[in-house]
Amino acid sequence: MNEERPPLTKKERMAIDRVVMPEQDPELRAINFREVNQGLTYQLALLEAQRCLECPKEYCIAGCPVSVNIPRFIRFLRDGDVAAAANSLLADNALPCVTGRVCPQETQCELVCLRGKTGEPVAIGYLERYVADWAQAHADELEHATATRTRKSVGVIGSGPAGLTAAGELVHRGHDVTIFEAFHAAGGVLIYGIPEFRLPKDIVQAEVDRLKEAGVKIEPNAIIGKTFTLPELRERFDAIFVAVGAGLPVFMNVPGENLKGVYSANEYLTRVNLMGAWNEESDTPILHGRRVAVVGGGNVAMDSVRTARRLGASESTIVYRRGREELPARIEEVHHAEAEGIEFKFQVAPVEVIGDEQGWVTGLRCIEMSLGEPDASGRRRPEPIPGSEFELPCDMVVVAIGTRANPLLTASAPDLVVNERGYLQTDAHGMTSMPGVFAGGDIVRGAATVILAMGDGKRAAGAIDAYLNGTYPPEEKPAVEPRHRSAAATA
Ligand code: FAD
Ligand code: SF4
Repeated sequence: MNEERPPLTKKERMAIDRVVMPEQDPELRAINFREVNQGLTYQLALLEAQRCLECPKEYCIAGCPVSVNIPRFIRFLRDGDVAAAANSLLADNALPCVTGRVCPQETQCELVCLRGKTGEPVAIGYLERYVADWAQAHADELEHATATRTRKSVGVIGSGPAGLTAAGELVHRGHDVTIFEAFHAAGGVLIYGIPEFRLPKDIVQAEVDRLKEAGVKIEPNAIIGKTFTLPELRERFDAIFVAVGAGLPVFMNVPGENLKGVYSANEYLTRVNLMGAWNEESDTPILHGRRVAVVGGGNVAMDSVRTARRLGASESTIVYRRGREELPARIEEVHHAEAEGIEFKFQVAPVEVIGDEQGWVTGLRCIEMSLGEPDASGRRRPEPIPGSEFELPCDMVVVAIGTRANPLLTASAPDLVVNERGYLQTDAHGMTSMPGVFAGGDIVRGAATVILAMGDGKRAAGAIDAYLNGTYPPEEKPAVEPRHRSAAATA
C-alpha cells in the first residue's frame, strides 16, 4: 500500500475537516443487530491521518491510559505503510480492534489532542480501528515475535480484556498459560455484555483464536471458587492472574423489583449476546417488551435500551436520575441511541415497579429530581422533589445502575485481602496479599473501562514475569491510577 504523495503544508492539513464515520441508516439499524459504524475506507483513513500535526509535545499519548504511540502509527498510515502502522499499534495495544470501537476517546486521547484547539480533534479512534481491522485481515504480513519456552506456568482466571491481554503478554514471554473461564465462551464483557451492533463477536473471537494459536490454553465452564478453589490453582501453577471482573448486578431495592418482566442489564445482555437470543433462531428465551424502561445512564444502559429497540420495542426509554450533561455513557452511544428513536427521561428516579394480578410489569412509578451541589463524584447531587411522583407505563424494566465484585472466588481464598467494597487489594505492581497471585481489571478498580483493564493485564504480565524470574518487584512504572471517568459508571 506504499504510495508516493507530496507532503501537505500545515495550512493544507489544517484545512481538512474531520472525517465522518460511515454508519448504517438509523431507521434500518434500529431493527437489526449489524454493526452501526461501518469503518473508514482507505482513502478516508489517509485523509484523516493528514490532519495529525505531529506535535513536538505529544498530548495524545499522555491522554491514553496505556500510552499508545499515536502519532507514530498515524504517521506510518499517512505515508501509506499500513503494515508498519499495524506493527506499531500492536506493540502498544493487544486488542486495538476492540479499543478502536469502544474506547471513550472523547474523554482520553481526543480530549487533549492539540488539533482540537482549532477545530475538531484528530479521529484517533477511527484511525485505530482502521489500522487494527487491516491487521486482523492481514495477519500474515505482520511481525511475529518468537519466545524461548521458560517451563514456568501461569493460570489466568477470567477471559475479559484484562485476562486476554495478560495471557498474550505472558505466552509471548515464553510461559505456559492456561485461562480458566466461568462461561462457555471467552471474551468477558466483550462477548457477553457489549452488543453485536457495537462490537461484532467475530472480531473478539479472532483475537481469542490468535491467542490460542500462540499457545494459550483456555478451559471454559471452569468457575474458580466452585470447580476449583484459588488455593488449589495456586498449587498447580507457578503464578496466577485474577481478572474476574465485577459482574454482580446491583438492584434498585424498590418494591415490585421481583415482578415478571424485570431484568438486570447483566442477565438481559448475557441472554441476548452470549446465549444468542438476538438471533430469531436461537432457543434462548427472552422477553420482547413493547414498552421498555431502562434505568441508568451509562454504556450498559445504552446497550440495553438499544437492544430492546432492536428486539421490537416501540417505546424504549432511558430513565436517569441526573441530567444530560451527567450521562456517563460515551457521547457517540448517546447520539446513536437518539437517532434510533430512544427516549430519555432525565432527572427522574424509580420508586416502585408496578404489576398486574398475574405478576407482570405494567409500569414504573417515578419521582422527579432536582440537581443540587456537586457530590463526591463531581456531578450534581440528585434530590427527590416532594409530590412529583408519576407513572411511566411499560411492560419490561431493565436495571442498569451498576455492578459490584462477585464474592465467589474470594470466599474460596481466605488469605486474599479485599477492601470494604469487596475489590481485591494489590501492591503497586498488581500482586495481591497471596504471594504469586496477581490481579487487575474491574476486580481491582471497580467497574471501569476496557483499556484500563488491558493496561492492568499488561503491567501484571510484566510483574509476573519478574516474579517467575526471581527479579520481583519489576522496575516498570506502577499501575495507572483510575483517573479516567468510568465508561461503565451508571449512577
Ligand atoms: P470482564 O470483562 O468482566 O471479564 C471477566 C471474566 O471473568 C468474565 O468472562 C467472567 O465470566 C469471568 N469470571 C468471573 N468470575 C469467574 C470465576 N469465579 N471463575 C472463572 N471465571 C470468572 N468499557 C469501555 O471502555 N467502553 C465501552 O463502551 C464499554 N461498554 C460496556 C458495556 C457493557 C454492557 C458493560 C457490562 C461494560 C462496558 N464497559 C465498557 C466496561 C468494560 O467492558 C469493563 O471495564 C471491562 O470488560 C473489564 O475487564 P475485565 O477483564 O476486568 O473483566
Ligand atoms: Fe496528532 Fe493530536 Fe497527537 Fe498532536 S495531539 S500528535 S495532532 S493526534
